[in-house]
Amino acid sequence: MAPHTALSYELYPPRSVESRDSLLQTIDELSATSPDYVSVTYSGTAERKQQTLALLDYLVHETKLTPLAHLTCVGHSVGELEHAVRLIVGLGVRGLLALRGDIPAGVSPDALELPFARYLVELIRRVEREDFAHFAGGKLSIGVAAYPQKHPESVSLLQDIEILLAKQRAGADFAITQVYFDNARFQGLLDAAQTAGVNLPIIPGIMPVTSLRRLIRLCELAGLAIPLDLASALENADNKAERHKIGVEYALHQCKAALDSGASGLHFYTFNEHRAVLDVLEHLDIAPYTSRYFSPLKSSQPSHFST
Ligand code: FAD
Repeated sequence: MAPHTALSYELYPPRSVESRDSLLQTIDELSATSPDYVSVTYSGTAERKQQTLALLDYLVHETKLTPLAHLTCVGHSVGELEHAVRLIVGLGVRGLLALRGDIPAGVSPDALELPFARYLVELIRRVEREDFAHFAGGKLSIGVAAYPQKHPESVSLLQDIEILLAKQRAGADFAITQVYFDNARFQGLLDAAQTAGVNLPIIPGIMPVTSLRRLIRLCELAGLAIPLDLASALENADNKAERHKIGVEYALHQCKAALDSGASGLHFYTFNEHRAVLDVLEHLDIAPYTSRYFSPLKSSQPSHFST
């Protein structure tokens, strides 16, 4: 059995009562795998962001799961971000994923008070020093994004690595990658990071994709080349069960390749669905354990939001 493999899942706040019910079932099913943490995305309108807080609150107070709160520079002033960090920590969350967020078309990063994620890492560390120095359990865990395939705005992969190094120096503890389908790119990221002196754990972001439509949409959004082998297998599949099997096998192969590359954890983009992820895990030998680099405490504060 492979020891010390951190396991985590990405969820997003539900958009309707029906999707909330299905998310609650997914949370229940995924809880049984004892993940190290469950991350919650943050984007969109003020109302959507409020729903992120509500889901974090639910995870802290109604489950045994450890949440990791995504937070973005986009859409916020420095003051709002400081407030958001205090609010999130006040809910009992002890881990944040510091992101810049996608800039709306035609807007320059210079228009943001915090133009890049590394400044958000610095802001979180400052708020922690100023407001939360009394935490007996020590510091907040801060994650950042990493890119196996060049970030669309970056000039080169080397720039991406330099930016990752800057986020590490600003105080990040670990990185989670953008979804990818070319395993050689993840290996390339690890090699380049090591050469540049990045020593924080880089966790591969894996998404079992069981629909061609979703695959194409995802690649468009993330600026990725469509993996032709997966796309053609999904296109030629006769039915839903076959497409499910194809998506699970592809993701399983990716997980094994990432672990062979030395990845110390696996982060699953779940789309708020559990079946495909559980089917992948069934074929992997991973021991549930508490990760070394992410050990947030949970507070016993009462619930402020409800889903
Ligand atoms: P940064 O690290 O700031 O990098 C953004 C770009 O700016 C890169 O091209 C980088 O090379 C460049 N850059 C950085 N610093 C400098 C500098 N000093 N000078 C010049 N150029 C620089 N988005 C959401 O809106 N909500 C989410 O919940 C969310 N979750 C995500 C989770 C993961 C695991 C990942 C990988 C991405 C997620 N995203 C999310 C998407 C992310 O916000 C976008 O990819 C965004 O475009 C970049 O965010 P970043 O944190 O990598 O930014």
